[in-house]
Amino acid sequence: MTALLRSLLTGLADLAYPPRCALCGAALDAGEHAVCAVCARALPAIRPPRCPRCARPIRTRDAKDALCGACRMHPHGPLDRIAAFGEYRDGLRTLIHQLKYGRRAFLAAPLGTRVAEHGAALGVFSGADWLAPIPLHWTRERWRGFNQARLLAEQISVVADVPVMPQGAFRRVRRTTPQVRLNAADRADNIKGAFAVRDASQIQNACIVLIDDVLTTAATAGECARVLRRAGAASVRLLVAAR
Ligand SMILES: [Zn+2]
Ligand SMILES: [Zn+2]
Repeated sequence: MTALLRSLLTGLADLAYPPRCALCGAALDAGEHAVCAVCARALPAIRPPRCPRCARPIRTRDAKDALCGACRMHPHGPLDRIAAFGEYRDGLRTLIHQLKYGRRAFLAAPLGTRVAEHGAALGVFSGADWLAPIPLHWTRERWRGFNQARLLAEQISVVADVPVMPQGAFRRVRRTTPQVRLNAADRADNIKGAFAVRDASQIQNACIVLIDDVLTTAATAGECARVLRRAGAASVRLLVAAR
């Protein structure tokens, strides 16, 4: 692409998306990216008390540092820990919808930065060797034009200084029914055998941080963690924008 064509396209993109808040439409100040300061403050970030293992908000006052009920019942899942920037509602849900279904890929930058800063504050990247976006099947990725998890991971990588696993190194090898359409029992069966590691030597004894936009159920991320561990990873964590 020539420089002239590229600048024309950028100009068109600016016309289509003038610097306005993606949530309230207010004009953005210098230094604000995609979301104004008022809307950014209103995002439903998950603050303590939250479960230290899965980031589920804990609604009682005296539960500081205590595991949630689900983690007490299933203490040894394949994921060492789950961290989530916020709850999947309000402005955060809107941003993720715009990114994913509105194909506004540029939103991955401001969102990824917030997720990365949250993860860093919680120590999610300490000792991490790779970020691994939860893979989409190539047919779905081609249909959408991108994998939102990879876009987020690329932005998180910049902030966290942890490399993203190369495209195709960890991939989805089988198409599956979207998990949201299934009940809990069918989800685990549906996702079994859906993922594969291409070159296991890259992840021997590695600490891997899976990245996704939303945690709906732990079945998908759990299956990813099982596959990565079977291929030699020492530990697998999950960092999501919302849960
Ligand atoms: Zn706003
Ligand atoms: Zn928990």
